[in-house]
Amino acid sequence: MTCEEARASMHFHLDGDEHLHVERARVHTAGCMHCERHVRALIEVEQELKRLKRYAAPSGLTERILQSVQGIPQKRPLARVTM
Ligand SMILES: [Zn+2]
Repeated sequence: MTCEEARASMHFHLDGDEHLHVERARVHTAGCMHCERHVRALIEVEQELKRLKRYAAPSGLTERILQSVQGIPQKRPLARVTM
């Protein structure tokens, strides 16, 4: 399973669907630092949206945010190395 496949499956999971690939995505994420960070970011967005529920965020907002975020190249290194 590639990182892209794992991340796509995580979206199913966060949407509440138990997807065939979710379990494989969990296995991938357990061994992939990049995807682990990604799923944590996803969860933070989900929780933030739940906190802001009274504003009645339109369904699909999370997806749109994530799609726009994923389209931005990461300029900072994923891991900060202390000297
Ligand atoms: Zn990965």
